[in-house]
Amino acid sequence: MVTHAGADLAAARAIAAAVPDPELPMVTVADLGILRDVGEEGGRLVVTITPTYSGCPALREIAHDLKRRLAAGGFAEVAVRTALAPPWSSDWITAEGRRKLREAGVAPPHPAPDRRGPVPLALTGIRREPVTCPRCGSGRTTQTAMFSGTACKALYRCDSCREPFEYVKEI
Ligand SMILES: [Zn+2]
Repeated sequence: MVTHAGADLAAARAIAAAVPDPELPMVTVADLGILRDVGEEGGRLVVTITPTYSGCPALREIAHDLKRRLAAGGFAEVAVRTALAPPWSSDWITAEGRRKLREAGVAPPHPAPDRRGPVPLALTGIRREPVTCPRCGSGRTTQTAMFSGTACKALYRCDSCREPFEYVKEI
């Protein structure tokens, strides 16, 4: 069993961080904040990821991609672990990730609702910031579908430039 040196762990982290999200291929698992930890246990590399949405089928694909890329990088013994707590929040998407989403024509999510305290249910969904068009920046947009391809995204249309676009929902 090979013990990974610090430099090897850094290399493994860089490989893992570059894995794209299958549903949002313009961003990586590091951009999305899905990649929680890359460490070593008993000579084996352990990668911990948190699913964006529970039951998101993308997770299996990400785990497969992680193992394949790490194997190509010389890490044969890799375990991919799923951490469900704390639950992923769209707030974990990095500034770099948000920039990449916008550049690809996908509106990044608004700040997630505060889940720590009691949630006044009556107010949910009433006071909502408009979703800004990633192409022209207009706030005059209309939601045309709750789901776009995957549960993670909603479909919008810009009322100014008339272009449809996807919005990554806040969670
Ligand atoms: Zn627009």
